[in-house]
Amino acid sequence: MALKNCSSCGRQTKEYAEFPCPSCGEEKIVRCYHCREVINPYSCKRCGRDGP
Ligand SMILES: [Zn+2]
Ligand SMILES: [Zn+2]
Repeated sequence: MALKNCSSCGRQTKEYAEFPCPSCGEEKIVRCYHCREVINPYSCKRCGRDGP
């Protein structure tokens, strides 16, 4: 599993969930395990959507 940068905290992580942006569907959102646990918000780089 490759390292990815978390879309919420920006840290590199290899325990993450990756899913397409629910708003534009084109940008991949990456959230590390920590950010999922504490429900950190993320923001989409493409459309600017903020969401938990
Ligand atoms: Zn994170
Ligand atoms: Zn988006």
